[in-house]
Formats: sequence, C-alpha cells, structure tokens
Amino acid sequence: MGIDIDLQKFEFEGITNQKPLILAGPCSAESETQVMETAKQLKQYGIKIFRAGIWKPRTRPNAFEGVGRKGLPWLKKVKEELGMLTAIEVANVKHVYEALKTGIDILWIGARTSANPFAVQEIADALKDVDIPVMVKNPVNPDAELWIGALERLNNAGIKKLAAIHRGFSTYSKSFYRNHPQWQIPIELKRRIPRLPIITDPSHICGNRDLLFEISQKAMDLDFDGLMIETHINPDKAWSDAHQQITPKTLNELLNDLILRKADVENTVLMTTLEEIRHEIDKYDDKLVDILEHRMRLAEKIGEYKKKNNITILQTSRWDEILRRRIEDADRKGLSEEFIIKIFRAIHQESINHQTKVMNAKDIDLDNKVPNTTEIL
Ligand code: PEP
Ligand code: MN
Repeated sequence: MGIDIDLQKFEFEGITNQKPLILAGPCSAESETQVMETAKQLKQYGIKIFRAGIWKPRTRPNAFEGVGRKGLPWLKKVKEELGMLTAIEVANVKHVYEALKTGIDILWIGARTSANPFAVQEIADALKDVDIPVMVKNPVNPDAELWIGALERLNNAGIKKLAAIHRGFSTYSKSFYRNHPQWQIPIELKRRIPRLPIITDPSHICGNRDLLFEISQKAMDLDFDGLMIETHINPDKAWSDAHQQITPKTLNELLNDLILRKADVENTVLMTTLEEIRHEIDKYDDKLVDILEHRMRLAEKIGEYKKKNNITILQTSRWDEILRRRIEDADRKGLSEEFIIKIFRAIHQESINHQTKVMNAKDIDLDNKVPNTTEIL
C-alpha cells in the first residue's frame, strides 16, 4: 500500500542532488573552535552539509546535555564563513524557533522524539508553512508505521522537503550493534514512499568506529540516498558518543573506499531479507547453546548431590517422565516425536557424561584415588 504524501525534491542547488548526500559533523557542538575546525576540515574534503547536536537527548540525567543555544552562533559562523549548510536536531517548539531564528538550513527530528506522536505534532504545528527541509530519524522502537506517521504529521503541516534517517533500533537482546539496523524496516519505508530520500546514520547504528564502513557500504548497496556520519577533530576526546566518531580525514577515506554499484533493488531486497532471517536464526542458535550450557551445569550440580548421597546417576523413571512430557509438548508445537527423542537422547547422554565427570573429578581431586565406577552407574 503506497502512502499519499506530497513530496518536493529535497535539494539545494548543486548540493543535495549529490548521491550519496553526505551530512557530517560532531555528535555535539562543544566549543566554537571545535565546531569551526571540524567544519573547515570537512569542507576541505568536499563535505557541504554540517551537522551538530546543540541539545542532546541523553539516556540518563547528569550526562552532557549539549551546549544549548549558545552554540547556535557557531553554526551561523559555519554557514556564513564557510558557505556550508547547517543541520541540527530539534526536539521541541523552543528548539524550532531558535533554529529558525539562527537560519539553520535543515532540521532533524531525533529517534526519541519521532517515537512520540505528541512531540512530533507540536513540532509540525510550529513549522506550519515554513519552507525548510526536515529529516526524520526512525523511532527508537522498530515500528515502520510510527516512522511513517511522523513523516505524515510534518507533511500535513506543509513540509514537503522531507527525508528519513535510518539510525537503527533499540533491542533488549545483546547485539554487536548499538542500534540494530533491521534493514527490512527502511526497505519497507522505501517501498511505501518510493520518492522519499533515505539517509543512513551508520554512527548510531554501530556505536563504534569499526563497523562504519560495512554499514555505509550496505546502505549504498541498498540504493539509499545518503549518509550522516559523526565527525570530530579529536574523536577520543568528544563529549558525547566518543567511540563512534571519526576525524574528517578518516571520513574522507571511508567515503573514497565506498563502491557505488548500480541499483538492483529486487536483488538487494531479497538478500537483505535472507540476511535478516539468518541473523534471527543465529540468535536462536546462540540461545540454544547457552541453554544447553545451563542445562549441563544443573546436571553437574545434581551429580554432586547424588554423589554425596550415594544415589545412582541413572534413574529410569525420571528419564521416562522427561521423555514423555517432552514428546507431548513437542507434538503440540508441531515437532516430530522422532526428532524430540533424538534430541533428548543426546541431551540425556551429555548430561550423564557431565555427571560422571563430576563424580570422577571429585574422587580424584578430593580423595586423590581412582573413582569407584560401580558407584557411578
Ligand atoms: C544524534 O544524531 O546525535 C542523535 C542524538 O541521534 P539519535 O536521535 O539517532 O539517537
Ligand atoms: Mn550522537
């Protein structure tokens, strides 16, 4: 189902018709020198859109929450002295007014804000009939509808120069990404609103420098329209997101290394879907091994207990009961009896091995004598 959205080409003469469109600059504006130096170096490498966070949404209080409005004149200077376009995050009406007053060129709505329809609606109302490009980051939670909803609210307020920023999604499970990319969600967005530019933000997806290239290349292979990458003159000393920032020079190398292939969306959509499913499978396989490890630790515990109390390892009635319950349960879940019997035989055998080892080890370690095997089986 396509979305009825009234888009105008997102472009500035000679800049935003570049593909990929690059936005770069620090996570946070920290000082005038840091802003100006970063911008100058970026400009040397041909970057035309400078991003910087002025107000920072932080997970916990008492972290650095951005320099606030005092940073806005620094961005004005970037615009006036270096001729770059400037982009900042706005999270409320006050931010919108300050940004417009300063002459900021592009606004973006952060991931925490786009998850909140009330906040987005207020920003949209404040922007009514203002002709300014707005980029909407995906909401922190993996919900394409919420992302689309935020874009629609802005569009209904008359904002036609819209773009989406894909910055990944929070997950509860451990992952080597800071925010899991879940590529199928921006792909779905592209399918629903084909003319909407999609910019990938590898910095917030990765959370560290090592994976930036891989994610950027993938975004290009999916035929997305641009990249937003956090850049700092001295990344290790950055006041926020230090691990993921890179120098303007490293950014230039990363961009030069990108291979821009011809679009073959059909194929990339297919590959991405496959990869997503494989990733899910890997997650379950990891869990399986984890669970088996815990299962065996318990077997060892029981082994120790049996040993102490002189009980045999194998208690047939218990094993029959385990197997019967599992077969019934598996049947309800559409798993064959044959499969379940095989799996549980293997688990049971491994369990016995672990228990045996515990008993032997105890005899050898504690009593320093050959174990009495009749005691074990
Ligand atoms: C940012 O771009 O610095 C930022 C805070 O991003 P996000 O809203 O994606 O967390
Ligand atoms: Mn950041």
